Amino acid sequence: MRLGILGGGQLARMLALAGYPLGFRFLFLDPAPDACAFPLGEALHGAYDDLDLLAQLANESDKLTFEFENISAAALRSLSGIALDPPLEALSIKKDRNSEKRLFQELEIPTTPFRTVDSPEDLAEAVRAFGRPVVLKTRSQGYDGKGQRIVRDADGDTRALRELGGSRLIAERFIPFEREISVIAVRGSDGTRAFYPISENTHENGILVSAESRPDDRTTERACELTGRLLDRLQYVGTLALEFFEHEGELLANEFAPRVHNSGHWTIEGAETSQFENHLRAIAGMPLGSTAALGAVAMRNCIGTMPAPAPLLSIEGVHAHDYGKAPRPGRKLGHITVRAESRAELAARLAKLDARLASVRFSG
Ligand code: AMP
Repeated sequence: MRLGILGGGQLARMLALAGYPLGFRFLFLDPAPDACAFPLGEALHGAYDDLDLLAQLANESDKLTFEFENISAAALRSLSGIALDPPLEALSIKKDRNSEKRLFQELEIPTTPFRTVDSPEDLAEAVRAFGRPVVLKTRSQGYDGKGQRIVRDADGDTRALRELGGSRLIAERFIPFEREISVIAVRGSDGTRAFYPISENTHENGILVSAESRPDDRTTERACELTGRLLDRLQYVGTLALEFFEHEGELLANEFAPRVHNSGHWTIEGAETSQFENHLRAIAGMPLGSTAALGAVAMRNCIGTMPAPAPLLSIEGVHAHDYGKAPRPGRKLGHITVRAESRAELAARLAKLDARLASVRFSG
């Protein structure tokens, strides 16, 4: 199968790396001339809403998928007869935090209390309703902490409104959560569903920095049941991630991603079948692979600096992924996965890894 992917970043690159053994070939569309997936397939270089390029991508591929949400659902809709998975509805809903939240409400998936904000008065109303601080987010185009501010006082309100464009925003209650978790799930074209063990995630400045699998987590049943509602309602095909805050014994959905997800990168070495392979199997109508974890697994993101792999690989159970991207502050350049037989062994290996990563950051 020749798969066309909208986006040529690291997610597309890892999809390609998973797809070659299954006989897939790849065609990527990305506006960046040096997109890091380009060496792994054929490249179309240009804007995501360029209708001619989209038509070419569709004509030259057996099927289309996408690696991130900031693409034009309207442009895709205008192409007739395209074979796209995950479904366009998942993408259109995800593109607006308001419609995403409304879908959570429709499915009775508990979510962070929110209000739409199109004016200073709306924000004042949200502050009255939720108390401070509130989290102000753009309704679209936000990722990795971009397009959001925590506002703590009236000056902050004015600044955040100005910086985020003043309208088409949502304000959320700030949740002093105990943990962040995500469910990576996959649904096949026949409706079969599979769920990976919960990931427990840590973010800094809105960017994921680490994820660890929690195969026996107490939230597993509830989190998977809530994620299953989303998969079925969207008639979803492919891999999807749903992120939750855990607070006072409750799971509150923060957001979903209709694609493979950074908090599931540990599945490459840490699960029987990776999230990338299962995404491809799903959209190609193949049977899904087992999502069982292989021991205890954790992942660290490499942000801004990519450490030399050799000193890390001397730690047992460590695997390095360098996306081949030019370094830039705040940019995800790679990730490191650690695997072990037990949580205790994993903790010991992580301690060594973290010490080496800290020394790289310090000297770099
Ligand atoms: P998001 O772009 O919505 O995934 O937000 C990025 C990160 O910001 C989350 O993973 C949280 O760590 C933090 N965050 C977002 N919304 C809230 C909230 N309402 N309360 C507390 N922290 C939040």
